[in-house]
Amino acid sequence: MEKFLNILYPRRCPVCHQILTEKGILVCRACENQLHPIIKDYCLKCGRPVAPEVEFCPECRKVHREFDRGRGVFLYNNRMRQSLLHYKYYGSREYGEYYAASICRYMERDIRAWNPDVIIPVPMYPRKQRERGFNQAADIADRVGRNLKIPVPDQIIRKTKNTRSQKKLSAAERKQNLREAFQITERMDGLSILVMDDVYTTGSTIEAMAHVLKGAGAERVFFVTLCMGWI
Ligand SMILES: [Zn+2]
Ligand SMILES: [Zn+2]
Repeated sequence: MEKFLNILYPRRCPVCHQILTEKGILVCRACENQLHPIIKDYCLKCGRPVAPEVEFCPECRKVHREFDRGRGVFLYNNRMRQSLLHYKYYGSREYGEYYAASICRYMERDIRAWNPDVIIPVPMYPRKQRERGFNQAADIADRVGRNLKIPVPDQIIRKTKNTRSQKKLSAAERKQNLREAFQITERMDGLSILVMDDVYTTGSTIEAMAHVLKGAGAERVFFVTLCMGWI
């Protein structure tokens, strides 16, 4: 049966989309060599790569973070960008399985130590989600939640403003705008929360989420993203 299904729907590398011929591997060898899991020398606050022996990145040393701690699994390079394009826009939804497996493989220890009560994915603006057909952060969070047996409640936070084009705003206006874009529907008193997203770049989305969650009573806010980019 498995062989039959493989002919009908050949397994593809979730990074480069090539058909996987080798049995028992999750990604092709070429991609495996090009992926960089951030497993050492990362900022103990935000998870960004830092020089060896350095505890915090320059930004975390400078500014107060709304979240407690967070990490990203892979460096956001061209390979991962291509992979996410296929996943988000060209129907390769099954890649989510590989993403969740990678998050569990590299982050389970930290997630267990943080001991979150719930996982909350970064929500998408409803119209955008309708156009895309799914919210990638929610898809990844659902799969990770199932694997690690952590609840992923639906619709706790809604995105009520489309914040895509913020270029004309100042940094402070952008921050305010983003905070107002997230609306929380329940109290989170005393809870420890793990926020999940596909990519961390400036961190402003995670910061805004943490601000809103703490405003609703959350005690601790952590995050895990599949990829982590540079500013
Ligand atoms: Zn590949
Ligand atoms: Zn940092």
